[in-house]
Amino acid sequence: MKRFYIETFGCQMNVHDSEKVIGTLEQRGYEQVHTAEDADLVFYNTCSIRDKAEQKVFHRLDQFKREAGKGKVFAVIGCVAQQEGEKIFDRAPHVSLVAGSASYTKLPEMLVQIESGDRRVTGLSLETDETFDTPYTRRDNPHRAYITIIEGCDKSCAYCVVPFTRGPERSRTSESVLNEAGELARAGYTEIQLLGQNVNSYRDPSPAGFNFAQLLEAVGRVEGIRRVRFTTSHPRDFGRDIVEAIDRTETLCNQIHLPVQSGSTNVLAAMQRQYTRDEYMRRIEWMKSARRDIAISTDIIVGFPGETEADFEQTLQLLDEVEYDSIFSFKYSPRPNTAALALGDHIPDEEKGRRLTALQERQRAIQLRRNTRLVGTELEVLVEGFNSSTSQWIGRTAQNRVLNFTLPARNGGEQPGRREMLGRYLPIRVTRAGPNSLAGECAMLV
Ligand code: SF4
Repeated sequence: MKRFYIETFGCQMNVHDSEKVIGTLEQRGYEQVHTAEDADLVFYNTCSIRDKAEQKVFHRLDQFKREAGKGKVFAVIGCVAQQEGEKIFDRAPHVSLVAGSASYTKLPEMLVQIESGDRRVTGLSLETDETFDTPYTRRDNPHRAYITIIEGCDKSCAYCVVPFTRGPERSRTSESVLNEAGELARAGYTEIQLLGQNVNSYRDPSPAGFNFAQLLEAVGRVEGIRRVRFTTSHPRDFGRDIVEAIDRTETLCNQIHLPVQSGSTNVLAAMQRQYTRDEYMRRIEWMKSARRDIAISTDIIVGFPGETEADFEQTLQLLDEVEYDSIFSFKYSPRPNTAALALGDHIPDEEKGRRLTALQERQRAIQLRRNTRLVGTELEVLVEGFNSSTSQWIGRTAQNRVLNFTLPARNGGEQPGRREMLGRYLPIRVTRAGPNSLAGECAMLV
């Protein structure tokens, strides 16, 4: 039996792509192992969103450079593969397969080439209208499932590699998405996360002609599905119909991730984000005036070329104005092929670090304040795990908050088993709040 190992770097799209790659390999008779040392075939599914992420894969490959010609096959897939292409063979001669995500539909053919001894196999074309639909997806989580609805991106944000590494936008048909959601529900999944670099620009290529809000609501009506989330949105394509769909459909989680990147209209223009601060805030107003209480999160980059202290101050003010429930924040990292490269990288790393710390401290206080107002309320969680070091169960609310909680002991004093608890929905009373999570107790005997 041929054994394979796969390591995944980066975003949820990469995680889900790896689930499909694993499914395709297992369908071809490969067995997954958990170390590269034990594998005949080693896959690295890579991320190039920041330089640090890119360097990780080359560091991994360097550890095996003595393996060249000894039968172990190395494959580099994903965004670094697409970005660097055949240069990877020169930099790491023990690599035999280099393929970007736009070529995954050809993975079975590429494996045939590898199995027949070919040692310079590539899949680097971005000329495709295909999406990586495969019946062979091996999902690790039995309760929550990813569904990719659109691949690639037609935007050109100045700092972003995605259009160069994942190609043009290709939407799946609404029928194929709804069929997959139905199959997952019949298989016992209750939570679905719709994925895309920019889900809002989803356009159903079939005669049904669904837009994103219509598809979202249709997935929310699939029998057996209790929660639907989606990521990532782009403010320019984010329509009010999405908020209205969430207000109408309880299974659509009242939680939206809308990356702003900066609070300064000048910086947004330099980033080629195609919206202004005011246009962004209008979308926030739609969410804040919704019937349901919608949790909002975002992405922010500090230290983009040309960002002044005054620009950065506007980003801090935006935090106070929006009061996000959580943020993902990063220092600007110059990337190959991007428009921002020509702008240079003049803000010293130390100053980027100072801004990042100031931003995170401001946000931490906001999160603590927002979480504290939930103390005393009862929230429903999907049970995701058990922390044996704290003897607490780990749950996630519809608003994507982590809630660590205790369960009343049974008559014999024992706790319920993990197998019976994972995937259940429970009402939890919140007793304590921290900036990044909540703590609580379940009054119900389970
Ligand atoms: S919308 Fe912008 S940031 Fe997002 S993937 Fe596309 S180019 Fe990158």
